[in-house]
Amino acid sequence: MNATEEKRAQFAQATQAQVLAQLKTSATGLSQDDAAQRLNQYGPNTITKGQEGSQLKVFLKNFASLMAILLWVSGLIAILSGTLELGIAIWLVNIINGCFSFWQEHQAKKATDSLMAMLPTFTQVYRDGKVQQIDATQLVPGDVFTLQAGNAVPVDARLLEATSMQVDQSALTGESVPESKNVKYDPGEGEFAESNLIYAGTTVGAGTGLAVCFASGMNTEFGQIATLTQQQVKVDSPLTKELNRLTKQISMIAIGIGIAFFVAAIFFVHYPIAKSFIFALGMIVAFIPEGLLPTVTLSLAHGVQRMAKRHALVKDLNSVETLGETTVICSDKTGTLTQNQMTVNHIWLLNHTYELTGQGYVNNGHIELDDQTVDFHSDPDLDRLLRVAALNNDTKVQQDPETHKPKLLGTPTEAALIIMAEKAGFDLAKAAKETPRLKEFPFDSDRKRMCTIHQHDANTLSACVKGSLSDLLPQCDTIQVAGAIRRLTPDDIDKINAANRKFAAQGLRSLAIAYRQLPGDSDLDSLTIENTETQLTFLGLTVMADPPRPEIYQAVQECHDANIKIIMVTGDSTLTAKSIAVKIGLTSDQARVVTGTELDAMSEAQLQEALRGEIIFARVAPEQKYKIVSTLQKNGEIVASTGDGVNDAPALKKADIGVAMGVTGTDVAKDAADMILTDDNFASIVSAIEEGRTVYANLQKFLTYILTSNVPEAIPSVLFLFSRGLIPLPMTVMQILTVDLGTDMLPALGLGSEQAEPGIMHQPPRARDAHLLNKQVVWKAFAWYGMLASAISTFAYFFVNWQNGWPDVALFASGNGYARATTMVLGAIVFFQIANALNCRTQSASVFKTGIFSNIRIWYGIIFEVILLAILTLVPFLQGLFNTTALAWQDWVFLAIIPIPVFLIEELRKSWLRRRQQA
Ligand code: ADP
Ligand code: MG
Repeated sequence: MNATEEKRAQFAQATQAQVLAQLKTSATGLSQDDAAQRLNQYGPNTITKGQEGSQLKVFLKNFASLMAILLWVSGLIAILSGTLELGIAIWLVNIINGCFSFWQEHQAKKATDSLMAMLPTFTQVYRDGKVQQIDATQLVPGDVFTLQAGNAVPVDARLLEATSMQVDQSALTGESVPESKNVKYDPGEGEFAESNLIYAGTTVGAGTGLAVCFASGMNTEFGQIATLTQQQVKVDSPLTKELNRLTKQISMIAIGIGIAFFVAAIFFVHYPIAKSFIFALGMIVAFIPEGLLPTVTLSLAHGVQRMAKRHALVKDLNSVETLGETTVICSDKTGTLTQNQMTVNHIWLLNHTYELTGQGYVNNGHIELDDQTVDFHSDPDLDRLLRVAALNNDTKVQQDPETHKPKLLGTPTEAALIIMAEKAGFDLAKAAKETPRLKEFPFDSDRKRMCTIHQHDANTLSACVKGSLSDLLPQCDTIQVAGAIRRLTPDDIDKINAANRKFAAQGLRSLAIAYRQLPGDSDLDSLTIENTETQLTFLGLTVMADPPRPEIYQAVQECHDANIKIIMVTGDSTLTAKSIAVKIGLTSDQARVVTGTELDAMSEAQLQEALRGEIIFARVAPEQKYKIVSTLQKNGEIVASTGDGVNDAPALKKADIGVAMGVTGTDVAKDAADMILTDDNFASIVSAIEEGRTVYANLQKFLTYILTSNVPEAIPSVLFLFSRGLIPLPMTVMQILTVDLGTDMLPALGLGSEQAEPGIMHQPPRARDAHLLNKQVVWKAFAWYGMLASAISTFAYFFVNWQNGWPDVALFASGNGYARATTMVLGAIVFFQIANALNCRTQSASVFKTGIFSNIRIWYGIIFEVILLAILTLVPFLQGLFNTTALAWQDWVFLAIIPIPVFLIEELRKSWLRRRQQA
């Protein structure tokens, strides 16, 4: 047994009192001061990952890529063949490029790392004797905290209380069957099996508990394991695979062309071997899309940052791509499509309907009440209903230390009931004290009920029950009317259902309230859900409004424009669900509503068929979402699905994009999801999809841009070869390197962070098998922009030669002529790329409309490339290396004019394209 195992065994075997004493704490936790001091001593409760691999290794990796190796070798050959400067220059270019890639990857990592800090996990901790919501990183040994289903266990702890607690320890043990945990000591079998200990990194699947922390941060078992297994195996994403394939394909083509040129240079032009090699190398370098991967990573990371600003945290860069392909969103209703600002506006009793007007809502957890009160004393049924609603309630009312206003901790549904009781003037504290809670059957979204058992008086216990009407009414056999309990008649049931339908048709959500008296000497242990939540006495309905989020109407419209289908999947009633769906424009009123029971009965073929039409799912349990999601996928859809509870986890994992709620979601759901909404808002999913589409479009813009310059880089060599060397090489290898690894880099990067093009959400989702390098990109880059650029640069070359007396004088003849001619070719390509960068910014929208200067990064890139060109032509040492020469002002004017017509021609083409799209 090692030291930590010993410590564990000791904490498991000691009595509760001993454990508390040893940790110098009490059953009501630490004081704020003590906790602060311990935080200093033990440090924050975080897992610090050690150096992930060595930084040096990551750095060096950038110098070992296929292209880098090619450049190393060619530099060496250049040196061996006597051109020392050329060799060194090639190496220098290689080093600069490697550093740049490293910097890009570093930036991307920084961008994504900072996101995770935006998502704190909270724990309910006792400090100064009161329960407080505290960032889990602030937990220290000795802290006493509560847990409930869906919580991540924040630290290693000993249980002090536990009700039907199930813990999923798979993260720690790999064992996927949940462990039962309770306060009695049982060593259990296998690792971490002690029944009364819970461990950081695991999650609570069911039940509730109270525990005292004995180890935090790196001292936890999870922390220990994290130190051991730092290196995670990374699986390549589809996008990475696609990019790798792309790079390889293009590289193979490049090498093929290189070999052909090499052979041609030797046999056609009779170049020496070393010189031919350098020449062929120029071609290879011209074609290989170097810097593609780091640029893609960086623009994904920028996309992720933009999404975060729009309340969508993406956990993995690759989800960005999938988002752009999404064809269906399965969405919860409550809190996602609606505001989750519940207000009880009616209390329906068989005898009377009370209308509660005014606000009285929870604002950031604070109760804001209007003055209105309902006199409940005169109505015994109302009195009883309020009591049940207030007692069957896990909302905690606290005094906010800063505002001194009452503050509510709990779910909006239950908080609304507390406010209802407050409004009626009901004394909550008194009721809670007089009738203490003895036992509970927590709410679960399968049976859609919750039950608490209280000591009513010496001789009676009372079971307080609330839940959805369809799940509660069948459990009732009596009804209380005017203080008297009588049998529930079919007529009563009709009236109750009619009332429920009336409210539901208005999109209101009702919760049924019932109770039951039990003998005071009932054996608590023998009370189960089955024998308690039955023979209930029906009391009435509390009717709540939960208005749609104001931004939802537009978000739904946008989805429809973008050919994205939305399917509401809710636990709420069919009528409420449909009413809201129609109201926000999600479906027409012809939509089919399928209940959970119907869903279970459907065959796969039936469901597949039904999912093709307008459909809403109501009264479904979260587990059933899995079936919906997987059937949609069988229909070939790319599915995003939302969820918040423990039982949503399988569907979230199954979905192509699992979306968890950041505010109301459980830790389990957040863990299973690919994306987390920091505002729980459906509209944020739509924003994320827009960003996802934008990122992909930007990658294509970037590709178009860098591929374009390959053509004018290749044409000179073709001229040279086909003229059997009569036309001197219009562009040298060093110049090709300059464009590819120098001037093109920054504007290309700028394209990666281009804004969404208007209309991007008016197109259908991209097909799953669509390739980044599609026909359109190839056509545009090689045939259209590429040829245009070649025409201009070749013209520049011959124009300069013509000025020097060609064709009467041979092209080589005049002293400085050749250098000036190649410099002009280089210049023409650089200046053409200025216009090209602007042109690539949009598919069909006018750049004047998007704003010429709206993407400032591109302009930084443009300024950079012009300065670089000027330096290369002016510094004598570089002139020699790059075969350049200072240009006359007339030459600069010539170059500066190039972008203007190129840009305008493309604007014309786009306006023609727009007109054709409209027609
Ligand atoms: P939704 O899909 O709208 O989020 P839920 O799964 O949260 O639905 O709830 C389903 C139904 O369960 C609700 O319509 C309501 O009738 C009932 N319900 C919700 N919360 C509680 C609760 N705390 N206690 C009892 N019943 C509840
Ligand atoms: Mg819910």
